[in-house]
Order: sequence, then structure tokens, then C-alpha cells
Amino acid sequence: MTLQRILPFTRTLLDAVLTKGDIAIDGTCGNGHDTLYLAESVSETGKVYGFDIQKEALESTHKRLEEAGQTAQVTLFHRSHATINDVMDTDEKGKVAAAIFNLGYLPGGDKSIVTNPGETLQAVTRILDLLRSDGLLILVVYPGHPEGKIESKLVTEFTSQLNQSHYQVLKYQFINQVNEPPYILAISKK
Ligand code: SAM
Repeated sequence: MTLQRILPFTRTLLDAVLTKGDIAIDGTCGNGHDTLYLAESVSETGKVYGFDIQKEALESTHKRLEEAGQTAQVTLFHRSHATINDVMDTDEKGKVAAAIFNLGYLPGGDKSIVTNPGETLQAVTRILDLLRSDGLLILVVYPGHPEGKIESKLVTEFTSQLNQSHYQVLKYQFINQVNEPPYILAISKK
């Protein structure tokens, strides 16, 4: 068999948790592939909150959603994911089914604009609080560029210390590939 590659495996994980009517978060919209996947999974009865610090990324995401007829259930925020608590409804605390963060830089965009390790950790901490019981947070981590290496170390340290009575943490990684390929950290809330 061929083992599932990183991005398809994120979809397998999302499919296991998401259903129509759910609330989901895309912490890094980029070109909107994950935002659209979340929007289709939760349907027009659900809600998706999407974040990106680059206007260009949000425009690309909006265009993709519009072309697919999936804008109604999505709210896009031009701000850092670290500020998520400022925009989420407080009554949605404990109700979020899934969140995904595809870290690093915007494909086809400015490679000097990358996710910031400190802000990523802040956002992860806040989202763990927002997740419902059985909810899932997925991080796609890119250790192959200098800031990514620092971020990789930080999120791995943080997630590996989460209390196992409250969270399961999975690392999905191809360990014999060259050039430090991306890997997944998936956190399931008990
Ligand atoms: N998930 C995207 C897709 O499906 O196309 C790819 C995301 S891309 C690898 C990473 C994105 O994170 C970039 O668009 C970048 O602007 C964004 N980003 C960087 N720092 C951020 C922050 N603090 N808050 C939200 N987004 C951020």
C-alpha cells in the first residue's frame, strides 16, 4: 500500500470528526483550500471562521469559496489567529469541532511572511479551550525553513506536554524523507 501523504491525511482526520452543522476554524487560510474543505464539511447549517494576516490570502480564499458557492457559512478575519478570542462568540466556547493550521508561508506568495511561533502557540492554547469534547486540532508543521524549525520545536514541546488525561496527541511523519518534509500534529480533546 501507499501510505497517505500529509495533506490527504489531514482530510481523513477532518472527515472523522466533522459533520453538517458543526463549527470549524481555519487558523491560516492561505489560498483557501482548507477553508473550502471545512465549509463543505459543515455545510450551510454550520460555521467556519477563517484567519489570515495577508489581504492577498483572504482575497484568494474568498474567490475560491465564491466559485464553489460556499461563502454563506464562512466568516473571514484579516487578523492574526492569536486574537481569536476577540472575535469568537463567547457562547461558542466548548463547541468547536475542528481547527486546522497549515503553518509556514503562503504558497505562491511572499515567503518572508511566515507564521510566528509565539502567535501560533497562543492560538493553539486558545483553541484547545474552544474545542468541544472529541474535537480535533490539526497542525501541519514545516520544519524545512529557519523559522519553521523554531516553530516545529516549540509546538512539538508544547503538545507533547499536554496532559494525557485530557488530550491525545498524534504525530504523523515520514521519517526517511530528505529535506525535512512537513508533518502533522493532531490533538484530540477527550
Ligand atoms: N491552508 C492554506 C491553503 O489551504 O491554501 C495554506 C496556508 S499557508 C501554508 C500559511 C498562511 O498563514 C499564509 O497565508 C500566512 O499569511 C498565514 N499566516 C501567517 N501568520 C499568521 C497569523 N499570525 N495569523 C493568521 N494567519 C497567518
